[in-house]
Amino acid sequence: MSGRYPRVEINLAHLRHNTKTVVDLCKEHGIMVSGVIKGATGDVEVARAMAEEGVATLASSRLEQLEDVKKAGIDKPLALLRVPMLSEVEDLVRICDMSLQSEMEVIRLTDKEAKKQGKVHKIILMADMGDLREGFWDKDEMIEACKEIEAMENIYLVGIGTNLGCYGSISPTKKKLDELVALSERVEEALGRKLDIVSGGATSSLMRLYSGDMPERINHLRIGEGILLAHDYIVLYNLLPETTGLYHDIFRLKAEVIEAKTKPSYPQGEIAFDAFGHKPEYEDRGMRKKVLLGMGKVDYAFPDELIPMDEGVEILGASSDHTILDVTEAKRDFKVGDIVEFEVCYATMVYITNCRNVEVVYV
Ligand SMILES: *Cc1c(COP(=O)(O)O)cnc(C)c1O
Repeated sequence: MSGRYPRVEINLAHLRHNTKTVVDLCKEHGIMVSGVIKGATGDVEVARAMAEEGVATLASSRLEQLEDVKKAGIDKPLALLRVPMLSEVEDLVRICDMSLQSEMEVIRLTDKEAKKQGKVHKIILMADMGDLREGFWDKDEMIEACKEIEAMENIYLVGIGTNLGCYGSISPTKKKLDELVALSERVEEALGRKLDIVSGGATSSLMRLYSGDMPERINHLRIGEGILLAHDYIVLYNLLPETTGLYHDIFRLKAEVIEAKTKPSYPQGEIAFDAFGHKPEYEDRGMRKKVLLGMGKVDYAFPDELIPMDEGVEILGASSDHTILDVTEAKRDFKVGDIVEFEVCYATMVYITNCRNVEVVYV
């Protein structure tokens, strides 16, 4: 390891702990966990840790991430979360055992392709329960789709599912999940058999386990954030680590100080546009102690989403390759060569693990 910065440190022991904790909690309620790796850009070590701590499947919205997992020889069924493009069906069947789907044209092609490759591909058919992203809105149409799929030779309809809290910000309430269960019963009646899976959503649906009102028939969840970051429990639901038993420090972003000087807070000269063509507001607070980091928007996209670990450090802004901090109020006396550490949010985690300028280090 060359010891380069910026870097993201991934604590695999804590990741293992979080995976096992979530898997065990779900198991108590008869729920299988699909471990979602897209938040870490499909990092293979992240996938391996999840696989070894008992997730039923590994899942991502991106085929190339699942292909990496397969190539790494990790022995778990792989699931594609984003409903597939027509153009990726061949790769889908080659790489994945299962997919979430919502379009008959794609499903028919998947059947054909599976036949060609001598496989049976599993499908979770998606219902839109009001969040208005993927899935059947018309439930009668969905029942007809299920019947057609049931007759396909190389597709197995393993279950139905829904996604909530993504576009429409719809909460996975007991009522919403009861509606999904009722729909699964309609499908089962139409097919004359039980479905293996009723997939009740993502991390946000875990709240039903903590509140103790998860409908019994829900037996599958797709969990990414709730294992990798576990921030949503605190931020959105006020569930503290004491309650969840989860770590919140799996990802740490570290960057190096390349300049430390006292400078004015208000730009000097005629103000036009910043590096991205915007015209920000600047506040004149006199001379301030400032620090420049060798890391910028190219690495993490959103400076507002970085959370400095040092008290009193304020993020002033960033350009492509620089981040500017005001450290006047900080206890630490920052010098060139010092390392500044950040907690990350979901978007930051995705960007930094997906950026070749940011070294991934496992601790
Ligand atoms: C990303 C995704 C998930 C996982 O979401 P988290 O909030 O990270 O748990 C689950 N299902 C689908 C369809 C997704 O795209």
